[in-house]
Amino acid sequence: MQFDTYIGLEVHAELKTRSKIFCICPNKFGSPANTNVCPVCMGFPGARPMLNRQVVLYGVRAGLALDCDIAEFSRMDRKNYFYPDLPKAYQISQAEIPLCSNGHLDILVENQLRRIGIERIHIEEDAGKLVHDNGPDTLIDFNRCGVPLIEVVTRPDMRSSAEAHEFLETLKSVLQFIDVSDCRMEEGSIRCDVNVSLCPAGSSQLGTRVEMKNINSFSSALRAIEYETARQDTLLSAGGIIHQETRKWDDSRGESFVMRTKENVADYRFFPEPDLAAIHITDDIINNERAYIPELPTAKLLRYTTKFGIPHSEASIIAFDAEKAGMFDEAVNCGRCSPRSICNWIIGDITKYLNDSGVGIPDTGITPESLADLGEAVESKVISSSAAKTVLMELLTKGGSVGEIIRRLDLAQNSDTEYITSLVEEIISANQRSVEDYRNGKTNALGYLVGQCMRRSAGKADPVEVKRLLNIKLNNQEDK
Ligand code: ADP
Ligand code: MG
Ligand code: ZN
Repeated sequence: MQFDTYIGLEVHAELKTRSKIFCICPNKFGSPANTNVCPVCMGFPGARPMLNRQVVLYGVRAGLALDCDIAEFSRMDRKNYFYPDLPKAYQISQAEIPLCSNGHLDILVENQLRRIGIERIHIEEDAGKLVHDNGPDTLIDFNRCGVPLIEVVTRPDMRSSAEAHEFLETLKSVLQFIDVSDCRMEEGSIRCDVNVSLCPAGSSQLGTRVEMKNINSFSSALRAIEYETARQDTLLSAGGIIHQETRKWDDSRGESFVMRTKENVADYRFFPEPDLAAIHITDDIINNERAYIPELPTAKLLRYTTKFGIPHSEASIIAFDAEKAGMFDEAVNCGRCSPRSICNWIIGDITKYLNDSGVGIPDTGITPESLADLGEAVESKVISSSAAKTVLMELLTKGGSVGEIIRRLDLAQNSDTEYITSLVEEIISANQRSVEDYRNGKTNALGYLVGQCMRRSAGKADPVEVKRLLNIKLNNQEDK
């Protein structure tokens, strides 16, 4: 029997506010354990929360970026459960009335736009962190208690692991573009749970979902989805049934294990948080937050692939990175060279430099104008592509203008026919053996002669012109 796969995701992203969601402790990653804590985030009896306004504003901004309805009034609720990383024994979250609902995010899969429904976005607090790598004991770091989160819950609209992966990459990039989260996977500031179900092909009734937790990267989300799809397929094909349950993904073993059979919503005994007032979102707030939403990554990706013909894999490196996209768009707008060359510079030498040196584009000396000048200098053959690499390194490390660097380092290429003709004649008369070889059919002697010309000109002769004129001379033709 053939099955259709349906996937829904729950994505948690930490918001980059200065302080935590209900207290004034710093919201900072990497501090010594249990130093960013106070009675509120440690859940001491009698301590009372105060809602950080910026968390609400970031939540609204995320909702607008994902085309959600923003609730005029929403509220916080207590979700009761016990776990050692949650000292209050309840998480303050949003249940019945989330801040944002009914949105969508368009993603580009195989050159087709796919619209993925967003059920809701709510704000909530993060829990602490259990540290297991200390011998037999488990330690607890409460620094993360009360770090603000948004949870983005999708509809079960994704149909393959590839779609889920593209969704995650796109969402991450949206949250970075609108500047609400830095989404550093390695710091756990973006995390996801995946829900997978299978149903008979063509059926309109969705199958029973299985949720998987403990997914530490987007690539492990991909593996977990593939594993779960195969597991359910085998089970169903053998006449078995799927139980709604939560499974724990073990990335090193590439398998998942039952964690718990699905808890009931009733188990959490949700009720309105009595210490916090309702959240009121005014039109002013909405208008103000809307102003922070730039052109989003999918729109850029679509523009780069369709208008400029750049392949998806390359275009997404730029479109999903706000700094690179800003550099690319502005350099293209200078109109001095082809978008393709700007793309090549960015995804090639510039990305390599950024990765090697661990800095961002604003920390380098390059500007969109100088990148456009560089592209123009190569396309109009003022400099060779190898000289261009030298110019680029100067721009990245020191900045400056392309023209000035070319003059200072004497990099201008010479394609003057008279100059190159005399160069070629000189090399031919000094290398009669190679000329004989060439005329006796050893065509690779040509490469040697080109190399000699380049060397004699200290790399400044235009190699295309050198090759053309050498060919003519060696074959005793006329230059037309
Ligand atoms: P819970 O907190 O119980 O996990 P949520 O409402 O937060 O519930 O999340 C439910 C998630 O499960 C959503 O992402 C939704 O798209 C997904 N989901 C619901 N039904 C199915 C299904 N039949 N197949 C796959 N995913 C599903
Ligand atoms: Mg869930
Ligand atoms: Zn605190």
